[in-house]
Amino acid sequence: MKGLSLASVSKTYRQGSNELHVLNDVSFDIKPGELVALIGPSGAGKSTMLHIAGLLEKPDSGDILVNGESSAHLNDKRRTALRRNTIGFVYQYHHLLPEFSAVENVILPQMITGLSRKEAQERAADLLTTVGLADRMLHRPAELSGGEQQRVAIARALANAPSVLLADEPTGNLDPETANKVFDLLLNLVRSVGLTALIATHNHELAKRMDRVLHFEGGKIC
Ligand code: ADP
Ligand code: ADP
Repeated sequence: MKGLSLASVSKTYRQGSNELHVLNDVSFDIKPGELVALIGPSGAGKSTMLHIAGLLEKPDSGDILVNGESSAHLNDKRRTALRRNTIGFVYQYHHLLPEFSAVENVILPQMITGLSRKEAQERAADLLTTVGLADRMLHRPAELSGGEQQRVAIARALANAPSVLLADEPTGNLDPETANKVFDLLLNLVRSVGLTALIATHNHELAKRMDRVLHFEGGKIC
């Protein structure tokens, strides 16, 4: 099925002689265009789940299907290609490259996937305009407010026209008013593009604005 699926995914971290079963046989499907909140206490493993769902980290067992394509048996090169072509990621901290301007931060991922500089530049300018930063394109991250930095991070996540957006507490680092605005922007964009989205948040009010909530605790969806 299209969208994003986890099929019997498990992940255990070993810390000395202790084993931490962060994901314990987790399965779920997110339909194309569905917007799902991931809620769970701190340390529950939300970041780990998003990294695994986003093909940034490998599970010990199970499969991640992106738009119906299984990733379990892909070699590293093909898994990376699948991730770059289908998944956008927004982190709690913007993770923008500090030496580059906003527009360059949105251009770079496109050049990595092979677009010409001219095409990448046009798309980056369009995306930054969409997120309300038409007059901030040449600013470096340190010259932008926290909300603006996250807007750039959102534009960057959409740079390669993904079909799936994963976000890890994307507004967790912002004051409540800014968080609300950035979250609205993110939801509007996700809906207008028809993206499939899984967004971890601590904020139950924000979670209510999504289509469905996944509660994650003790390594399980509950
Ligand atoms: P959340 O995002 O819900 O706060 P995380 O996914 O960050 O949870 O972490 C879940 C648990 O896994 C935590 O106890 C954390 O310390 C542990 N953990 C995360 N990454 C690693 C790692 N690379 N090695 C060992 N333990 C880890
Ligand atoms: P906030 O009130 O959201 O914390 P700031 O006070 O950090 O925002 O910034 C206010 C505005 O000034 C922002 O729009 C930002 O783009 C701009 N700005 C902040 N620092 C610089 C800088 N060093 N150079 C250029 N513009 C800046």
